[in-house]
Amino acid sequence: MHPTTQLLQEARDRVTFPIQELTKLIYGNEEIYQTFMKAQKIIENEPTIKNHPDYHNWGRKEQIIKSYEKIRIMHQHFNLSNAAHWAPMLSLFQGTTPSAVSFGMTVPALRFLGTDEQFNLWGPKFLTMEIVAAYAQTEIGHGSDVQNLETIATYNSQTNDFVLHTPSVSAVKFWPGELGFLSNYALVYAKLIFNGKNKGVHPFMVQIRDNSTHKPLKGVAVGDIGPKLGYSTKDNGFLAFDNYRIPLNSLLARYVRIENGQFSRHGNEKISYASMMVSRQLIIFIYPRMAAQSLTVAIRYSITRQQFTNDKGVENSVLEYQTQQDKLLPRLATCYGMIFVGFRIMELVDDNFHRVQKKDFSTLQQSHAILSALKAWSSQWVVDTAEWCRLSCGGHGYAHYSGIPAIYFDTAPNVTLEGENQVMYLQVARYLLKVLQYVEKNPEKVPFYFNFVLHIKETLANQSTEYGQLLKLTLTIQLISVAKKIKDSMSTGKNFQQVWNEVVGVQLLSVAQRYAEYFTYLVFQEQIQSANSSVKEILQQLCDLYSLQVILDNPNTLIESGRINGEQFKQLNEAKIELLNKIKPQALGLVEAFNFSDNALRTCIGCHDGKPYEYIYEWATKENSVNIKGVPQAVNDLMGTKIKARL
Ligand SMILES: Cc1cc2nc3c(=O)[nH]c(=O)nc-3n(C[C@H](O)[C@H](O)[C@H](O)COP(=O)(O)OP(=O)(O)OC[C@H]3O[C@@H](n4cnc5c(N)ncnc54)[C@H](O)[C@@H]3O)c2cc1C
Repeated sequence: MHPTTQLLQEARDRVTFPIQELTKLIYGNEEIYQTFMKAQKIIENEPTIKNHPDYHNWGRKEQIIKSYEKIRIMHQHFNLSNAAHWAPMLSLFQGTTPSAVSFGMTVPALRFLGTDEQFNLWGPKFLTMEIVAAYAQTEIGHGSDVQNLETIATYNSQTNDFVLHTPSVSAVKFWPGELGFLSNYALVYAKLIFNGKNKGVHPFMVQIRDNSTHKPLKGVAVGDIGPKLGYSTKDNGFLAFDNYRIPLNSLLARYVRIENGQFSRHGNEKISYASMMVSRQLIIFIYPRMAAQSLTVAIRYSITRQQFTNDKGVENSVLEYQTQQDKLLPRLATCYGMIFVGFRIMELVDDNFHRVQKKDFSTLQQSHAILSALKAWSSQWVVDTAEWCRLSCGGHGYAHYSGIPAIYFDTAPNVTLEGENQVMYLQVARYLLKVLQYVEKNPEKVPFYFNFVLHIKETLANQSTEYGQLLKLTLTIQLISVAKKIKDSMSTGKNFQQVWNEVVGVQLLSVAQRYAEYFTYLVFQEQIQSANSSVKEILQQLCDLYSLQVILDNPNTLIESGRINGEQFKQLNEAKIELLNKIKPQALGLVEAFNFSDNALRTCIGCHDGKPYEYIYEWATKENSVNIKGVPQAVNDLMGTKIKARL
């Protein structure tokens, strides 16, 4: 057998748990798994959309055209109305997916915020892609602070319609995905001016391009904003309006209405969270699967990559080094936690959606807090994981041919879009403090995933070093501490906003992140309890490694509060090393449970047959169009100049 193939095969033989049992958990059900496998096959067998080694040598236009072709073909094969079906597929393509914003952001907003009639008017046209609509909220001057958006929609009582206008350069819509070329509609967030009064920011469904020519309509300026960090196939755009008339029906009217010349509100104003929940849920669900891709490449490569000879005269696989395990295995453990969180979040969003439909808003805020926490935490974690995987592959990790750099830059925007992470964490902290206030007067209001606040005394008194307890303890201590600091600072005469912005900001971020970590632990535990007995042990090891890594990354609270001493800290470190040793032989099985095809991984160093060197050389020499096209003119010109200079 080929020597590096043999290394991979031996590693496969060492795996002791039934891989297919984990595959079932990763995909949730057979139908989703089969859809995912079918998508992998279609991409591989369809030459126009197959992932291509030379992709990163192409120009942006070629990349975009290929992306459009890919989505056209996928629409032929799949019913893309079901997010659980298409979401796992998004990790399979080179480049971001056109229409994902339209489906993942605009359609949910229409569903939540539009009336049934409005949904029936536009909704079916989305499915056939007769309508593709950008989600146009952010402006040049404001993103996070939605209430200060400047675009104006003025109601005209004479004509019973609106005039949409961009009053300044800072009011130009900027960044919305699919606005640059693809969309013919946009869901525009604008300040509604009614009878001279500002009624707040509301969404308007607006046609921006002509149905037959696709040219911008009169009064609309629209286009692509230019190159970014990666994300080259996404046509993030700009959009400005010059006194552009739009019909009354443009205003999504489930919760605000203008009828008979009167403006009225219905339901809970926080409902605008609801549509963002869907897109944040997708971020939490999809992107850990891209982290799983980078881990698959890095772990396969680390088994086949040999550096330095051991005492038996044999070269070591780099995965044998503890430091390499430390880079990858805690991340692999966390990845499993994130995958399980993805499913749990889908259930929470689904439940919330059904309640909201019945005008029950009781779970809205807790769902918003959980999603914000997990969106922020998981999106940063995915990017960091891609970077660590790249580093773990040495020089070859730096090449696009490894497949890892593109995962880094295609996931990096998630830290910022759909709510900038730190802004999200601050909202989570606000909710945690609110829940803390329920404890004395309204304990029944504390939602299930926040009930740690009901057990503060027991948690503080518990001396156990069990990992879940330590995570809960850290969260509890931090929450109490920040609440006390706010109270103390306000007693010195500062107002709440000052204290929030200038005194406790860093602590607020920390407590929100601790919440995300603790939530992930809870979900991990739920998953272990319901898992098949054949995989309980490996899942428990992964959960332990995940928890230990989280504790060891941020031990300050436990140390400062005297809750763990030096000896206990040492034991936690030793327990982690022991787990690295236990999980190392299972690592290949753990990544292969995801069942990514070689083409889906877009890699030459992490393929299933374990021949990195052959593919590295083959891709560099045979797939690399820079070589294939011969000596560029510029080289000839340069050499000519030099020769002349020498003469
Ligand atoms: C690739 C990409 C795609 C996008 N797609 C879309 C889209 O489809 N539709 C759309 O409408 N928008 C889109 N956006 C815009 C995106 O939603 C915003 O950029 C994002 O919400 C962040 O807002 P901002 O740019 O105003 O950042 P800012 O809020 O200006 O953030 C700048 C810094 O200030 C900090 N900060 C801000 N407020 C506070 C505060 N209160 N307390 C403490 N710190 C604070 C932040 O943490 C950050 O460090 C996209 C952006 C990107 C990068």
